[in-house]
Amino acid sequence: MSTDDASQRLATAREQIARAARLADRKPESVTLIAVSKTHDAEAIRPLLAAGQRVFGENRVQEAEAKWPALRAEYPDVRLHLVGQLQSNKADDAVALFDAIHSLDRPSLIPALAKAMERSGRRPECFIQVNIGDEPQKGGCPVDALPELLAEARAAGLPIAGLMCVPPLELEPAPYFALLAKLARGHGLDGLSMGMSGDYETAVMTGATHVRVGTALFGERA
Ligand SMILES: *Cc1c(COP(=O)(O)O)cnc(C)c1O
Repeated sequence: MSTDDASQRLATAREQIARAARLADRKPESVTLIAVSKTHDAEAIRPLLAAGQRVFGENRVQEAEAKWPALRAEYPDVRLHLVGQLQSNKADDAVALFDAIHSLDRPSLIPALAKAMERSGRRPECFIQVNIGDEPQKGGCPVDALPELLAEARAAGLPIAGLMCVPPLELEPAPYFALLAKLARGHGLDGLSMGMSGDYETAVMTGATHVRVGTALFGERA
C-alpha cells in the first residue's frame, strides 16, 4: 500500500467518523480512531504513519513487541492499544508496551495488572471487555459479572476508562452497542470501545469513544 492509498483510506475513515458523530450531535474529536495493525508488518504500517496516524491497536503482546519498538523510535508519539486477550503472565510486558488495554475481562487479571503498574510506574488506561451478546465461545466478562469485576478493579486502583465489546457476528450491532453504552452510563464510565471496519459508523452514532478499525485501513488480513 502506498502512502497515497493510506492517506485516502485514513481520510475516508475520518470523514465517516466525523459524519456519524455530527449526526449524533457529538464532536468528531470525541472519537479516537485506533488503526488495528495486527498481522501487518512494519512495511504495511509505515504508510499509515507517514499519513499521520498515531494510534494503533494490536491483539498479541509478542507480535507487538517484535514490531513496535523500532517504529516507535522513529515516531515517539505513537500510542498503542492492546485489543486482544491478555494472559496474566504477560501483564508486565503489556503494561510496559501499551498505553491502553481493552481486554480486562476476568478477576485474575486485576492483581496481575495492579502489580505490573506498581512495578513499572506506568498506568495504561483499562477497558473492561464485556461479552455483550452472552456468547459461550467469546471473550469478555458476562454482563451479570460486570458490577463485581468493576468494583474489584476500582478497589485495586486500576485506571478504568470504560467498557469494550465485540457484538455477535451476523447480527445487527446497534442494540448491542446501545446496551454497552447503557451499562457504561450506569457505572459512571465515559469510555466506549466499540465498532470495527463493518460497523464503526453505527458505533459512533451510539456513543463510541474508541473505534478499532483494521481491514478498512489496511485491507484484508492474510
Ligand atoms: C481485529 C480486531 C479489530 C479490527 O477488525 P476489522 O474488522 O479488521 O476492522 C477490532 N477489534 C478487535 C478486538 C480485533 O481483534
